[in-house]
Order: sequence, then structure tokens, then C-alpha cells
Amino acid sequence: MRVTVLGSGDAFGAGGRFHSAYLTEVPGATFLLDCGPSILQAAKRVQWDLGRLDAVLLTHLHGDHFGGVPFLFMEYRYETPRTRPLAIYGPEGTERRVKALFTALYERTASESLPFPVEYHELAPGETVPLGEARITPVRVQHVPELTAFAYRVEVEGRTFLYSGDTAWTEDLAANARGVDLFVCECSTFETQLDIHISYPEIAARARELGCRRLVLSHLGSEPLRRLEELRLECARDGMTLDL
Ligand SMILES: [Zn+2]
Ligand SMILES: [Zn+2]
Repeated sequence: MRVTVLGSGDAFGAGGRFHSAYLTEVPGATFLLDCGPSILQAAKRVQWDLGRLDAVLLTHLHGDHFGGVPFLFMEYRYETPRTRPLAIYGPEGTERRVKALFTALYERTASESLPFPVEYHELAPGETVPLGEARITPVRVQHVPELTAFAYRVEVEGRTFLYSGDTAWTEDLAANARGVDLFVCECSTFETQLDIHISYPEIAARARELGCRRLVLSHLGSEPLRRLEELRLECARDGMTLDL
């Protein structure tokens, strides 16, 4: 399994980083975990062939995590012509929100049929999705009260990768992260404590006892980025690859 961090930034593009997108390649499938609005810039900067994408899995319906889906549609409609299906997985409301966003951004193109089928799958927590040789399981996390938010657990060839999406620090998240091979964990703040995001001190205090083979902080906001030299945990960079 190879994970390429296409976007390690927060909603505000702190530090000039791209919005959330994690390209995940497993035997038999290539998919994105989240698809922020900067998806095309981020993919093209690492010269990744967008035609290889099989599916998009969205953690939640905040703009920095799903706002790039209409841009993917435009890419496949005009620049990288596509005829094979594109699967889009996400929590309840995914189909309605993606269609509404496409219409808001490109009204005429959205009103026409695309030259490829878009297959929407709205997932319940714990429902496992097989993609290639991977089994992907959405895990409910605590983010904003008005949305269902998932972390995703990706298992392939005896390796496990957990991507937190946006979440508060909870015991349930810790239980899911314990002992995984790769945990990409959001770290939006440092000194500000919120009940919708994780601050650096919260994850730093627990990092060792999680026993993850590799822990990488991402979704980095302006506070942790201002103190990058002080951080003792590995931080993601746009374009970095993580092999496991
Ligand atoms: Zn976010
Ligand atoms: Zn969010």
C-alpha cells in the first residue's frame, strides 16, 4: 500500500498547503481519501495520472474535504476523458451535496449527463467496502454535530492504515488507532482547544501509548505550523509518500 499526501492543509490553506486529499494505491485499486478543492493542482504537481482513479471516499461534507469532486468531474469531462465509472463513497447526504455543489459551480455542465457513470454509495459506520485487495471501513468520529464524520480504516495484505479525517480526540479514536501500521491524524491547532479538532498537545500526550508503527500529523493549521520546529511528531508535507 502506498499513500501519497496530496493535501496536508486545513480548511484555511495554512502555510500554503493544499486541502485534504490522500491518494491511496493498493493492489487492484487506486482511490482518494477526501477530495478537497485543490485536488487538481495537488495531483498535477506530483504528476499523478488522474485517469487511474477508481473511487473517492469522503470523510465528511465540509468543503475542504469534498469541494474538489466537481473539479474531478470537469477534469474527466474535458481534460482527461473518462468513460469508466467513478465511485464516490461518503456519509449520508453525499449524493445530494455533491450534485448541489456541481450545479453551483458549473451549472450548464452539471445539467448535462457526464460521459462516465458516477456511482454514489452512502455508508453506515462499520460497513466494509472492498476496493481491489483492500477492505475499507468507515469509523464514526466526533466532529461537528450537524454532520456525520468518518475516519477510514484501510486494511490490505495484513497492513492497516487509519486516516482520522476531522475529529476531536476521543477514546474511541484512540482505540481504533492502537497498533495500526500507519495513522494519519489531524492536528488542526496547538494552543487552542476545540471539541471538533485535535490540538498538538492532545495527540503528543498519547502518541507513545497508541503504539502505531508510524504516526503522521496532517490537516495542519496555522498554530502547529508556526511551531513546526517544536513538534516532536512527524508532520505530513504535500506530495510526500508513505509506504506500508
Ligand atoms: Zn477539515
Ligand atoms: Zn471538517
